[in-house]
Amino acid sequence: MSEGLETVPAFWSETCKNIRAKISKNAYEQWFSGITPLKIEGDSIHLGVSDDIYAEWLMRNFSDVLADSLNETAGRKFSFVIVTGHIPDDSLSDEGELCLEDESDADIRLDRGTDAELRKPVVASAPNCLSRYTFRNFVVGEENRYAYSAALTAAQSPGVFNPLYIYGGTGMGKTHLIQSAANQVLASKPNALVRYTTCEGFLNAYLDSLRNKTHHEFRDYFRKVDLLLVDDVHFLGDKEGLQEEFFNTFNYLYNGSKQIILTSDKQPSEIPGLEARLVSRFESGVITQITQSSYETRLSILQQKQMSQDIKLDMQILSFIAARVCTSIRQLEGALLRLVAFSSAMGGVPITLANAEAILGDMLDKEAEARKVSIDAIQKTVADHYSLRVHDIIGSKRPKNIAEPRMIAMYLCRKFTEHSLSEIGAAFGGRNHATVIHAVTQVEKANEGDENMKRALSALKRKIQGR
Ligand code: ADP
Ligand code: MG
Repeated sequence: MSEGLETVPAFWSETCKNIRAKISKNAYEQWFSGITPLKIEGDSIHLGVSDDIYAEWLMRNFSDVLADSLNETAGRKFSFVIVTGHIPDDSLSDEGELCLEDESDADIRLDRGTDAELRKPVVASAPNCLSRYTFRNFVVGEENRYAYSAALTAAQSPGVFNPLYIYGGTGMGKTHLIQSAANQVLASKPNALVRYTTCEGFLNAYLDSLRNKTHHEFRDYFRKVDLLLVDDVHFLGDKEGLQEEFFNTFNYLYNGSKQIILTSDKQPSEIPGLEARLVSRFESGVITQITQSSYETRLSILQQKQMSQDIKLDMQILSFIAARVCTSIRQLEGALLRLVAFSSAMGGVPITLANAEAILGDMLDKEAEARKVSIDAIQKTVADHYSLRVHDIIGSKRPKNIAEPRMIAMYLCRKFTEHSLSEIGAAFGGRNHATVIHAVTQVEKANEGDENMKRALSALKRKIQGR
């Protein structure tokens, strides 16, 4: 290594100069200023980036530039390792919203902070946003990790993932995530114009502007912004006038390279009555889904939520709630609050399991009902997992990319429902029971040796069971 470059920052800073000579200023700012040099080991430097999407993009587009620049700095062959889970210091708010992860654990996770820290109000919150919605108190699990990383990237490097579209069922944390992005942008750039609205709010403002002849003001309000966040855009479905207005607003901002973040309960193509031009706009950026939370995430959420409560429940009770309340995080919070309120009303008596079961009775019944798995739900889950349509799964075509998911879906129906072989066959486009037996045997056999099959099955089982 050349003299004076013994330390990691000096070595990296010299490499950055070499990189800058090779690519545009914009590309440099966008992709290299967010890298944290971590350590040098032998002839290799470890570079930290925020998430998988960032890492993948870097590797796909800039690995040659990076390799050449490192070789130049070192004066010999020098390699690099990209490690995810590292947020650059200058993107953190004063409270240190996120912690740098230990390199041995490359996933992004939250520093849940101390009890006192969590109680501290966040100073800035974007207009119409709740200050308690921050990345810091969003618990990250497998089911929301990609959406979390993408929202964080959109907040830190506006314009890279544009538009960002986050979809998932109700109560899964979409609003929390999108408002976290709004709050984060405002915390790091207090002068930024950040506009958050629900789609319904957008409609009401639009109707008011027509009524009061204030269309100009309406347009300015949503167009003179640096970041537009619109929650629940499925609400646009079947509303033609609103779609026209939304389309124009969208284009105006998009063409001005302003970041747009949208949430919805469905993928764009599945929103009934959404015009094709909006579908294609929404699909033109990054689309990420939040799926049903796992038991571990639910338990972490409960542990985190109870930090802000005066009454603390036993771990056994928290595990009980996490295991039994799976339909949404909103329900989970509701269950926790109900138990805390009960205990508080009784002068702080500790909650026992029997108590919890009785107090949450009606809620648990509804949860049990919602957990009953249907053949339809399995077909939909498998189709989504393989990016197919349900009618591919139940149809008669036989290419391998469809035949295998179809067999897996039959196998899962056999495992998770009470339906007979013939009923399952019938639900798969009128196939007979022998076909179902064949599918079950094939999948069981593959599950013994094939690692890909094992991984797919365990992901699907988790999605179907909601844990
Ligand atoms: P959605 O917009 O998807 O219907 P919300 O964002 O309103 O859901 O979430 C419902 C509640 O659950 C909120 O109080 C939110 O803070 C909480 N919540 C959801 N996901 C998480 C998470 N991963 N970590 C912490 N809290 C969460
Ligand atoms: Mg919401």
